[in-house]
Amino acid sequence: MKRILRLIFISFFIILISGVGFLSYMLLEGTPPKIEPVSVPKVVGKVFEIRLKATDNRSGIKEIEPVIVQGGKKHIIPARKYGSSHWWLGSGVKEVQEKWAIQATEMGLKEGPAKILITARDSSFRNLLKGNKAVLEQDVVIDLTPPRIALKSLIHNIRSGGSGLVSYKLNEPVVKTGVLIDGLFFPGTPNPGRGQNTYISLIALPFDKIRVKKFLVEAADQAGNIARMGVPHKIFPRRPKKDKINITDHFLQLKIPYFEMNYPWVKGATLLETFLNVNRELRKKNGEEIKAICSKISAEQFWKGAFKRLPGSASRANFADERTYYYKGRKIDRQFHMGVDLASRKHAKVPAANNGMVVFADSLGIYGNTIIIDHGLGLYSMYSHLSEMTAEKGEMVAKGAIIGHTGSTGLAGGDHLHYGMVVNGIFVNPVEWWDGRWIRDHIEANMNP
Ligand SMILES: [Zn+2]
Repeated sequence: MKRILRLIFISFFIILISGVGFLSYMLLEGTPPKIEPVSVPKVVGKVFEIRLKATDNRSGIKEIEPVIVQGGKKHIIPARKYGSSHWWLGSGVKEVQEKWAIQATEMGLKEGPAKILITARDSSFRNLLKGNKAVLEQDVVIDLTPPRIALKSLIHNIRSGGSGLVSYKLNEPVVKTGVLIDGLFFPGTPNPGRGQNTYISLIALPFDKIRVKKFLVEAADQAGNIARMGVPHKIFPRRPKKDKINITDHFLQLKIPYFEMNYPWVKGATLLETFLNVNRELRKKNGEEIKAICSKISAEQFWKGAFKRLPGSASRANFADERTYYYKGRKIDRQFHMGVDLASRKHAKVPAANNGMVVFADSLGIYGNTIIIDHGLGLYSMYSHLSEMTAEKGEMVAKGAIIGHTGSTGLAGGDHLHYGMVVNGIFVNPVEWWDGRWIRDHIEANMNP
């Protein structure tokens, strides 16, 4: 009996000791939680987000409460609380990621400096049951004013398929700015030589666009405030031009084997079917490749003055000609021609149209051997169907430097140069860029208004 009593007493004692041990380990622990900012911005606008990670490996996170203090006034943001099913177990939340969407103006915050204070508490019974706490403190500037845009350029007369330039000045540094023409965005390039926060943006109107609803300068500051300003403009629709192309068996026998060899996926049941795959699908794919190459904007302007046209050549086809293709008198396809075809003598020397950096020198589907030159500010020229290329990718070339010889590689029927120009990934009419007076009035005048 005595032994049993002693046993019960010892067991009770062990339970008591381990209970106290557990309680002091879990509920009286003195290790505060940790707060790690995931995104706690330093400059904010009307709406912003606070994102953070909190960890507590002992009793677990009990609550996280953000507060914004401005001018001695505390703006409390609803806390996140983590309860537990049994009070002695703590919350069990060892790690948590939280975010708060803050409506600064609705909360009554005003423009100017403020302080973000985030307090995390754990489930420990320390500090009169309030738990251990960690505080993250960060200064923040509340900016509710969008940037101010001052338009500098004066003339914005643009043809369908034509180019232009917009210059403007902002009153503060921004994170994103450019010109928006309907769905197209033309990023602004900083122009420090013409003053602080001054930008220029080369723009283009796709050949099939005859009306524009939105033509705006847009600027977004670090706080997310966006400014937009309409650009007074005039659009000149182009006169559509049509052209007929006869596809003969001789042409198919001459051209199609090359495409079947190099692009096996275009192979159809007949030569004509393969031609149609080349003319539709490969053309489209090549257009996307060119767009990708010519969408990068080099901040430096390499080109100077008028672009050089292939010497002693005649135009055989114009920009944006609508071509209808016939086979044995039957209409088989319709495509738009995105450059100018220039014919001189066979294997004529091809000069670089202006100063720039060769960014592509390789075969390119329907365009055959092609060189693309980056002239800076988003302006590119391309030279296709070359029989030979003498410039290499990465090479800086001067206006007039020989980069290759004309030929009939790709889908060309005869020896000629297909000359294209691209602004920010959009094919434009090269005729404007060959005209020194047009450049002076529409580009240079707007750069230095
Ligand atoms: Zn062409």
